[in-house]
Amino acid sequence: MSKKLKDSNLEVHTDGGIHGSHENKIAMRDLLNDKGPGFCLAKWTQVTMHLGQGLTHSCHHPVAHKIPLDELKENPSALHNTSFKKSIRKEMLNGGRPTECDFCWRIEDNTGEFSDRTLKSLDAYSVHDHDSIVSMSGDEDVIPKYVEVSFSNVCNLKCSYCGPSFSSNWIEEIATHGAYELTDNKYNGITDVQYKDSEDNPYTDAFWQWFPEASASMHTFRITGGEPLMSKHTFKVMEYLLANPNPNLDFAVNSNACVPDKLWKKFTTLSNELLQTKSVKGINLFVSAESVEEQAEYSRYGMDWNMFTENVEYFLDNVDGARVTFMAAFNVFSIPSFKKLLEYVLFLKQSYNGNGLAEWFEECGLNISYTYQDKFMTPIFKDRPRAEWSNRVAIDIPYVRHPKFLDANIITLALVQDYLYPAAEFMYKNTTTDGWDDGLGFLANESLKLRRILIDILQNIKDQTAPDNTTTNQSISAKRVDFVKFVNEYDIRRNLNFLETFPEMKEFYRICELECKKNETVNENQQ
Ligand code: SF4
Repeated sequence: MSKKLKDSNLEVHTDGGIHGSHENKIAMRDLLNDKGPGFCLAKWTQVTMHLGQGLTHSCHHPVAHKIPLDELKENPSALHNTSFKKSIRKEMLNGGRPTECDFCWRIEDNTGEFSDRTLKSLDAYSVHDHDSIVSMSGDEDVIPKYVEVSFSNVCNLKCSYCGPSFSSNWIEEIATHGAYELTDNKYNGITDVQYKDSEDNPYTDAFWQWFPEASASMHTFRITGGEPLMSKHTFKVMEYLLANPNPNLDFAVNSNACVPDKLWKKFTTLSNELLQTKSVKGINLFVSAESVEEQAEYSRYGMDWNMFTENVEYFLDNVDGARVTFMAAFNVFSIPSFKKLLEYVLFLKQSYNGNGLAEWFEECGLNISYTYQDKFMTPIFKDRPRAEWSNRVAIDIPYVRHPKFLDANIITLALVQDYLYPAAEFMYKNTTTDGWDDGLGFLANESLKLRRILIDILQNIKDQTAPDNTTTNQSISAKRVDFVKFVNEYDIRRNLNFLETFPEMKEFYRICELECKKNETVNENQQ
């Protein structure tokens, strides 16, 4: 007989909420291990589906697999319940550790950290389903609580670190010019088969058969792309939710925030209607930027920085209570202007986030004209109804490791000194104190992400710089060689100029060229 939630040491609040405390993580890991060393609730509760290619995976870590059309014909819930996924669930229920989940096994076996198996199982969208899942056979069709969907790869941008699977503009470039030829590989040579008119295909048909029933019990529904606002299905979902409210649903959309004005206004209006009519619990818009101005426009080709900032602020001004999270995919092109991006995010936080404690102090008769009020209080802050203030603007800093040549760990100590360290220092100087000035600066967990990146990069530099400033680390050297190859070709194809756009990286580029010469010499000597 497997243990149930009540048999575990999990601390559950009276409102049913579960805190992600260290003690609760230990309790959840023990509870999962009671069923099996590979048992993970996310295999049932979470799904990411790519409808343009007909792929699904649970969670997002394992490689996505094809949804068989014959299974879908009989049963639209095969979008999440393929026979393959059911076989993996059975493996978990019977004490196995499925190979496709090696992302978690590497963490569990090689570090003292908790893997996503524990973290995702502890999350609010999973934990309450534990008792029903633990007694399943694995053959059941289940409705996931956390759903991420890409309707197609249609996108008006072609960012440097993206590719044909996620951008139709990238497909056009590769079709015209071919893949980027790098040292040992071709970058973005694979063009996944997408439905030509991927807006309408058997997978989106199945989605619309499945969604009405499934959405009623969802915790989070997030649309990704391509660019979601270029898809009619995004607006159809929003209109559906207006007509069929789910006040418990967190609705989220990823966007490049650079779509035609008409689409942005329509999206803003519908978002506001959804919130004001309480048709959903919350709206979180995830916008992508990891540098500013012309450097952002270089890396995120097709972006217009001014349009981006105007759209973000228009959304915040017109959808009271919605959250905007900056997804800063940190890469080598982020280095010189990342601090400026942080300054902009801080400005938005101070303009749109709030702090109920400060107002309550005033209500109690305290004169709180102390530093942080002077620093943080803005006219917008004062005018907003308090309930909607808290933490409307946030930043997440995922670290780009692929493509390898854009991994920021290829930079030099001089770039760390001049740009990365000051950015991290700025973030920490403006990190708020939990329970005091929350939301008005960076949160501790936001700053921690940049600190980790800084440390990771320094570990690749320390004791590995040769007298001519090249690196003694072969893997970094190879990445720098590919960086030069990529940038040179990127500039030609897109009529850009790296050195003019990134004057701060001139010396770095020279060192990368030196790495190329060194590598050529080594190769010649070996022949
Ligand atoms: S075990 Fe890890 S990789 Fe597998 S579904 Fe759970 S969280 Fe995802």
